[in-house]
Amino acid sequence: MEDISKTMQEMMSKRHLNRNYRQLMDQAFADLEVTAFIQANQADLAEDVLARSASKIYEFVTERDKVRQGGQTFATGYEPRLIVANHLLDVAYVPTAATMEKQAQQQLQRRVRAIAMPKDIRNAELDNFDNDNDRMEALMAATEFIDNYENSPHHRHQALYLSGSFGVGKTYLLAAVANQLAADGFSSTLVHFPSFAVEMKNAIAKNGVGDKLDAIKKAPILMIDDIGADAMSAWVRDDVLGVILEYRMQEELPTFFSSNFSMAQLENEHLRISTRGDDEPLKAQRLMQRIRFLAREIVMVGVNRRPQ
Ligand code: ADP
Ligand code: MG
Repeated sequence: MEDISKTMQEMMSKRHLNRNYRQLMDQAFADLEVTAFIQANQADLAEDVLARSASKIYEFVTERDKVRQGGQTFATGYEPRLIVANHLLDVAYVPTAATMEKQAQQQLQRRVRAIAMPKDIRNAELDNFDNDNDRMEALMAATEFIDNYENSPHHRHQALYLSGSFGVGKTYLLAAVANQLAADGFSSTLVHFPSFAVEMKNAIAKNGVGDKLDAIKKAPILMIDDIGADAMSAWVRDDVLGVILEYRMQEELPTFFSSNFSMAQLENEHLRISTRGDDEPLKAQRLMQRIRFLAREIVMVGVNRRPQ
């Protein structure tokens, strides 16, 4: 802003530019937007406003025209507005419509915290979820959850455990729910569980387990994606997953799951057998009790939608 005013002053001080200057200013003073603004605010403006605000008027007109022509202004994404300050004209810079749209979009994305999730989950939308008969139940349950949660976010709401084979759209549906909640002002955290487990193991050496675990544990809405996809060590099962689920059950925090396993399979084929090969049915049972408290199982069937 200052630069342009300075340029104006320099121009004015150089006598040989006087004629150019006058031409430029005649155009600026005659600008319809400028005259309308001065007219509308006459009561607040000093009598000699034109002379004293000349550089601001010039700045407004040139910067506005740059924006109109799609050029870069000195503040990208902002456009000039005339305002009244101390009975003179001044130029304020406000975000353009496109900038506001982008900011709103970023705000939305901040409400969806994704840990080791594919990037394309950003584009998942409930409206684009194919509601063929196979998946109708899952879609209905998802929208019902959103309605209930948004009506009373501080009460307990049972979330969903989406089970079904690879590629039926479990992750897509979780992401679409998270995006819808974000659009309505609610934050959620999606975590690809097998990657998170690896991250946690690496965090042991750096003493970072507590913080990482806390962030997940306390997320207002948590979506645990792909549970059961990788073998789980007893430590991950009991000290990571177990701790997260215990806390969320106590605090009644909504927790979704997706898995290639049904609940029964997860219990009997996955959680029961530790990576050391021990059979631990009681531990598996306790974990499953927590999962069942937090979520109800919905079986998704259908074709594999992954690009082959
Ligand atoms: P899953 O988690 O069940 O293995 P995904 O959710 O990853 O399956 O879906 C597999 C692929 O199909 C992804 O690329 C996803 O974006 C796409 N997809 C899934 N469901 C839909 C849908 N209803 N509309 C459009 N694309 C979808
Ligand atoms: Mg998936």
